[in-house]
Order: sequence, then structure tokens, then C-alpha cells
Amino acid sequence: MSLFYTVDARCGKCGITSNVQLSASVNADRRPDLRQAILDGTFQAVTCPSCGTALRLPAHITYLDMRRGQWILVEDAGQIAQWPAVETEATELFSTSFGASAPPLQRTIGADLKARLVFGWPALREKLLAAEAGLDDVVLELLKISVIRNVPDSPLSDSTELRLAAASDSALTLQWINTASEQSIADLSLERSLYDELAADLEPWSELKAQLEAGLFVDMNRIIRA
Ligand SMILES: [Zn+2]
Repeated sequence: MSLFYTVDARCGKCGITSNVQLSASVNADRRPDLRQAILDGTFQAVTCPSCGTALRLPAHITYLDMRRGQWILVEDAGQIAQWPAVETEATELFSTSFGASAPPLQRTIGADLKARLVFGWPALREKLLAAEAGLDDVVLELLKISVIRNVPDSPLSDSTELRLAAASDSALTLQWINTASEQSIADLSLERSLYDELAADLEPWSELKAQLEAGLFVDMNRIIRA
């Protein structure tokens, strides 16, 4: 099933408004190309038909990957300040789609899905990368909090975010991103062993871990913006 909706996108350069039809859902099992486009940053990257400038379109999709056990509601990064209300909506949406309020077949599928809420494309990309690399997203958020505590002059602000940008067997690359432009500000390369050490001893982190796991919005911003 493919759902579409229409937005009026206004070009920041020439001011021309164009009608853009966007997908309301991505099924990664049926469309692995769309999953790849999300990872590449080319998903829903639309250009102005008049002058060719890249148009920034707000994120608003549900993402389903049954093989990897991921269900993710993706909302626009600009909505992050309202995360408690959006999280309530996300919880209801998952419940009626694959959870307690869904038909039996859907519930069976839902039992193998990890439900999440993210704001913006870099946050979605991070969830896909983490799952691919076998990283628990709760532990990853704890690692980020640890990094911010230990690295002086972290560019943490309301207009920046820290996201996983790449992962290998030996290294993790975190990236500071300008939320509005999605442009990288700085890269931070970590040995993967830092993640493994943290994951092996979560006891000192139990309080923060419980806060991160309290809802679908598994993101250090739920603590920072509490
Ligand atoms: Zn234009």
C-alpha cells in the first residue's frame, strides 16, 4: 500500500510555489531502494521546477521494515519541541496499526517490531544505521550523552543535533548537524569499543536509560527538552 499527500513547497530562492506529491509511508521490505535513498539523503529531495534549487520538505511518513523489525513515525524536525504530544499520537498510531488495537494479523507482525518516533531525516537515518550496525538505540543515546559530558565545547544548542553518521566494526562516526539545514558542522570519530564498554555495564546509567525508554521517542532530546 502506498499513501500520498500533497504539500505546497515554496522555493526559498525564486519564491515560486509548487505542488509536490509526497509518499506518506515507506515499506522498506517492498521498496529497499527507498530505504537506500533515506540512507543516501536523497529521499524526497525535490528541486524547484522553476530554478532548480533544492526544496526542503517537511518529514511526515511512517517507515516500516519488517525484516529488520523497525516501525518509525517520522515527523518534521520543527515539531521536536512538541514531542510529548506527538509521542502520544505516535503511540496511538502504532497501537491501531500493529499494536493492542490492531487486527490479529497486524498484531502478530507488530510483536516483532520496535516502534519509534523521530524528528527529521538525520534522526531517521540514524535509526536505520544503528539497526544495520547492530547498535541498540537506547545505548547509542547514552553514548551521546556521555560524549557531550566529556567533550569540551560541544556545539549543543536548540539548533543543532548529534547524530550517528557512520558505523563500522571498529569505529562510530557521530556528526553535529545544523537541524534546519541538515548540514554537518563537525564530525566526531569514536572507537566502537566505547559503545561496547557502555553496553556491558549499564548499571551507572539506569536512571537515564529508564527515561530514554519511557516512550517511542528514544532520543537524548527527550531528556534535554523535558
Ligand atoms: Zn526556485
